[in-house]
Amino acid sequence: MSNQEIVEIMDIPFNKLTQKELLQQHLYPRINSGERTYIVTANPEIVMQAREDATYKQSVKSADYIIPDGAGVVIASKILGNPIEERVTGFDLMFKLLSYAEKHNLSCYFLGAKQEVNDRAVNRVRSQYPGIRIAGSHHGYFNKDKDASVAEEAAASKPDLIFVAMGFPRQENFIAANQHLFEKGVFMGVGGVFDILAGEMKRAPRAWIKLNLEWLYRLIKQPFRWKRILKAFEFMFRVLIRK
Ligand code: UDP
Repeated sequence: MSNQEIVEIMDIPFNKLTQKELLQQHLYPRINSGERTYIVTANPEIVMQAREDATYKQSVKSADYIIPDGAGVVIASKILGNPIEERVTGFDLMFKLLSYAEKHNLSCYFLGAKQEVNDRAVNRVRSQYPGIRIAGSHHGYFNKDKDASVAEEAAASKPDLIFVAMGFPRQENFIAANQHLFEKGVFMGVGGVFDILAGEMKRAPRAWIKLNLEWLYRLIKQPFRWKRILKAFEFMFRVLIRK
């Protein structure tokens, strides 16, 4: 990947591709050739976590693509003088991949969230994409020492797309440590997306997202997350002082 396509933000190399470029020039061809692909959709909190946790940093940096999911990352790239054109959210990327899977008879695996949330999320995918193949699913509440056996069970179903919704840092650590057990597949950590699919959580309204206020919407809905928002502010502060 050339330097022009990357911007380093606090030692995390972000891809500067638009969603369209990422899908059409990279992900679809890699899916078609059966190349294993690991995508991290990183927001400021993930960058800060990587700064504080060397193992997690390694898990993130071992990804094939680190995508700017978070208005703060896009703003930081502009401050650093190497601007990212657009924010590419894990949420939108997952739905693009699901549409592609439906059209091309690909199979998907859904790992994460509570059992009933996982079931409802998979049912929602089934009804929204009737042609899609579900390779399998598993809830996300198991001990770390079961990681390899859960991964082996998933790998045996030979999925083309593996969505891991266990929140960070768990999901990236899981993917980085276990993707070698799969012969192919696009791996992506998708955080709370199964909760949204299951109707447990609402995504911020489009207008808020456009105004870069998705973080504020989440703070209002889940005030216990205030510490994470502080991390996002610390991220902006650190970018500014580095500049
Ligand atoms: N989760 C899980 N296993 C765990 C902890 C969390 O499967 O050990 C799930 C949780 O039920 C939720 C998602 O992971 O569906 C975390 O969502 P969150 O919005 O916290 O994601 P983040 O923004 O932290 O990536």
